[in-house]
Parts: sequence; C-alpha cells; structure tokens
Amino acid sequence: MDFSFVAETFQNMEQTSSRISLTNHLVSLLKKTPTNIIKKIIYLIQGKLYPAYEGIELGLAEKLTIRSIADSIGISINEVDKVYSKLGDLGDTVAEISTRRYQQTLFTEKITVDRVYNTFEKIAKTSGSGSQTTKLRLVTSLLNDATPIESKYIIKFLLGNLRLGIADYTMMDALSITFTGDKLKRDVIEDRYNICSDLGTIAELLAQRGIEGLDEIKITPLKPIRPMLATRISGPEEILERTNNLVAAEFKLDGERVQIHKDRSKVELYSRSLEKITENYPDIVEAVNSIKIDKFILEAEIVPVNLHNKILPFQELMHRKRKHNIEENLKKYPIKVYLFDILFLSGRDLTSFEYIKRRRMLEKVVAENNIKIINLIQQRTLSKSSQIKRFFSLAIRSGCEGLMFKQMKSRYRAGSREYLWMKLKKEYDKSLGDSFDLTIIGALLGKGRRTGYYGALLLATYDKETNTFHSTCKVGTGFTDKNLEFLYTELKKYIINKTDPRVVTKMKMDIWFKPVIVLEIIASEITLSPIHTAANNLIKENFGLALRFPKFSRIRFDKNAEDSTSSSELLDLYKIYLKKRVPG
Ligand code: ATP
Repeated sequence: MDFSFVAETFQNMEQTSSRISLTNHLVSLLKKTPTNIIKKIIYLIQGKLYPAYEGIELGLAEKLTIRSIADSIGISINEVDKVYSKLGDLGDTVAEISTRRYQQTLFTEKITVDRVYNTFEKIAKTSGSGSQTTKLRLVTSLLNDATPIESKYIIKFLLGNLRLGIADYTMMDALSITFTGDKLKRDVIEDRYNICSDLGTIAELLAQRGIEGLDEIKITPLKPIRPMLATRISGPEEILERTNNLVAAEFKLDGERVQIHKDRSKVELYSRSLEKITENYPDIVEAVNSIKIDKFILEAEIVPVNLHNKILPFQELMHRKRKHNIEENLKKYPIKVYLFDILFLSGRDLTSFEYIKRRRMLEKVVAENNIKIINLIQQRTLSKSSQIKRFFSLAIRSGCEGLMFKQMKSRYRAGSREYLWMKLKKEYDKSLGDSFDLTIIGALLGKGRRTGYYGALLLATYDKETNTFHSTCKVGTGFTDKNLEFLYTELKKYIINKTDPRVVTKMKMDIWFKPVIVLEIIASEITLSPIHTAANNLIKENFGLALRFPKFSRIRFDKNAEDSTSSSELLDLYKIYLKKRVPG
C-alpha cells in the first residue's frame, strides 16, 4: 500500500473537526488497507509504532530532524531554520521547502507504508554510539523519496507531533462501520478494547475474522486494562440512597494509581493512563516478585511516605520520575502501595466477580504473603450516615483525600465511570468542593512580573460523544514561578496558529494550543456564563458553565486530554452545588 494515500488521509483529517467526516476518512482508509498491515496503520494513526502502553517513544531530536531535512533537500541548516521560524512547525517546513525541489524531480520511487513503518522501527531501535549518524541516514533516505505531503507527516511522526485528534471513540466507530457495516457493534468493540487497550490487535482480528474474532481477546497479565472510574456524589445521604443502605467504603489516598501485572518472573506497572511506569519503582517490582503466585493483576495507589511511614503530599512522587539517581531516590523518597482491587488471579479473570468477593480474595493474597511496602487499603462496610461521617473524618485525619464508595455487588467495569464506584473528597462540605481536570487550549501573554510567561491559561472540558473541548475558565493563580516556567516551555510544543478544530470557544486569546496538557484546578463556584461553552445551552440558551475563582493545583501528567472532566460531569456538579447553596 502506498504511503501517499495515508498521508493524504491524514491531511484531510487534520482539516476537519466533525466527527462524522473524521469517521468517513478513517473508514475509507481502513477499507483500502490490506489485512497484513492494518495493525501498522492503526498505530500510525495514533502517532505510535506499537500500542501506547508499550511506551516506545520515537521523539527524534529537533536538531537532527532539521539536519536531515537540510541534507535530503540539499540546502543549508540556516535555510531550514528560516522557514521553520516563520511557520513554527517542522512538518509544514519540510512540506513547503520540498515542494520547490519536488517540482524539479522527474522521477521518485513510490514509498510504501511498510517501508515507512520499518524505517520508523529501525530508528526507534537504534541506540548507542553512532546512533545519531544512523538515524540521520535513515531519515534522509526516506525524505529523499517522499513527496512534500508525505515528508510532512513523516517529520510530524518522528518528532512525536502527529496529533490527528482522533479519539478512541471515533476509531471504534470507524472499525465497526468498516468491518460490520454499521456502528451498532461499537459497544462490543469497546468492551474488548477496555480489557486489552490495543486497537491494533482489535483491528487485525476484525479484518481476519469479523466481530467473532474479538472473542479471542481475554484479560491477560502484561496487557493493561482500562481503569474503572468513580462518579462524584454530594454526600452520605446520596451514597446510602444509591446503594440501598449498604456500601463498602475505602480510604481514598492521593498518590499515583498503578496496575500491577505479574506473569511468572516478569512484572510490569502501568499508570492510570496505561503508560509503563515500571522503571520508576524497582522497590515495588522487588516486592511483587516475592509474592508466591505466578500470574495476577492488582490495582493500587502508590503514596509517598516519610521515614516514619507518614503519608506525604503526592507531589513527592515526582522525585521517582527522574531518570538518574534511581538507587539514591529509592532510599531518599520511600513509598507505600495500598492495594484496592484484584482483577486476575492464577489464570482466572475476576472482573465479573462481585466487589465483595474480589475484596476477600485480595485480603487472602495479602494475608498469605508478607510483602513489605505493600498493604491493603482500609475498608469498612457501612449502612448509616453517621458511620460514613465518622469513617470520613478518620480518612482525612489519616492523610487521605476522602473516601471511595463501592457497590457491594458491582463487577469490575473496565473503562467505565458509573455509580458503581463513587467518590467523596474532603472539600465536599465546602462551597463547591471538588477539583477539576481541564485541558489547556489557549493563553494570554503575561505582563509585569509575568512578562515572558503566560499570564492566564484558558481551560476546557472534554466531551467524548462529540470529540470536542469547551472552554470553562481562565486560570492565572496558584502557580509557583517554577510551574510558570515549566508550563511555558512545555506548552511551546503545542502552539498552533488558530484554535484547534476540536475546540469550541467564544474567547479571544493571544496563543492557542493543541489540547494535550491537563491541569487540576480547584474552584469555589460554578456559574452560568455567556462566554464559556462547557455544557452550552443545556441549562439556558446561549449560556455555558464557568468555574469561578479557579486556582491551579497541579499538572495531571497521568491524564490525557480525553480524560478531562466532561461537560456533563460539570453539569452534575452544578446541580449538586445549587442544592447546597439553597438550604432545604
Ligand atoms: P481523581 O482526580 O479523583 O484522581 P480520576 O479521574 O483520576 O480522579 P476517579 O475515578 O475520579 O479518577 O477517582 C478515583 C481515583 O482515586 C483513582 O484513579 C485512584 O487513583 C484513586 N484512589 C485512591 N484510593 C482508591 C481506592 N480505594 N479505590 C479506587 N481508587 C482509589
């Protein structure tokens, strides 16, 4: 298959935000794709070489990329730099410069998807001394034979900048239409995706054997499962109402969620967004290896502690993300792991077991293995509001951010946010009482002390049904100088010259960004707003919902933009907030 068809489809997709037309572009690409390369095509669309959880990053250095562009076109680095500083994107730069050269070339060999993918793979695997020269040679030779539009997407991919804005949801719609004729089987596909997190394998099975092929997908250690999530609730009364007066409550610790996979001697740890984080926690790997069970999948929260085992703020976990001094950081920044679920045990998928049964099995695993640093999360079964309040106070005094509530009979619903799990955070009795995870979509330039940084950032909710981001507030407070500096540098990578096609906003900003980075925000009120577009028209025509007095609390490195708080969650909170404000 020619890569030109893929590059043209990418270009068409970049120019549209409508979910229907994105789906149509995908369907026509998938229909033309031979079965033996469908996996590769899916990963390329996702800007990856393998499923995201493998964590293989191409991320070619900018300098090397500029040199390969210069070498392949036969111009100086200075000339490339000039166009780059004008256009601000190396993909656009190579397309513009090579258009001139391309018109003079009489014949070039067509490049195939296989060739492009295999070259990317070689680049990813090249390391050690001399690797820069090898990479340069590989990129240059690919660019030599590429058309301008092919070059554009090759470069974007290599830099890790290929963000076509295709949500998983859209991809699954397209797979359903391509292989079953309509969207009706999307739910079946999603169900399987939730337990294997690999759309490449799903597409391949669909292409080979149709929808029945997906029966083959089973929960397996070393393949992360999309996490089950919780819904916010207003307080003890609502919890009891929703659970028929009997609920399991667990401490809600504020650290890093981890899925622990063991398959004999191999252990992998995955974050909430299913990235591999095994290397950050050699102490957890060691502890897990000492459990005398061959295969399992556990879920837990990792929290930082001090030398006296007191729980510390989650920010301390940042020290574990550094690539150097790992041994030293292990000792200096100890952690503890609190298990709260078990999803697989010795060849058995436990996700269809009731919560209370899984909890008993988890207790047994912990009791039979004396594993240092690994503990069970505190849990109680409660049936009265007074009990909930007491356990809640105990949780807060013990350093938790609140409580999680789990329906006793609930199965583990991978990837879902329902009322099977509910959460109550410590701010619940205050005016608004929760944090929001919102995506940065724009910024105002800073003035005075903030000159050279951003003065305020425009934040948005995300709606997966429409694959759109909706502005809900501007945040300018709560940042340290270090935060401002970090965000300024980080956000540079995502600057675009007009709003992203998926963004819906009425705001005027100095700078726009691709929706990538997620911030956690605390706010004290939600109000109707004529200028913000989150939950637009849902309460009042031409009005959306705005967060008032927003304050930055942290960067959510563990969340993708598509994991941001949704407009409907904001709407639910608005309703809870209104109830609290009007007594009775
Ligand atoms: P949050 O900002 O609250 O972490 P989230 O979107 O990451 O939100 P939620 O489902 O809303 O996820 O809240 C559950 C999170 O709380 C989990 O992702 C996990 O990291 C953490 N957590 C702490 N203790 C528990 C527990 N006992 N059971 C489940 N999750 C827990």
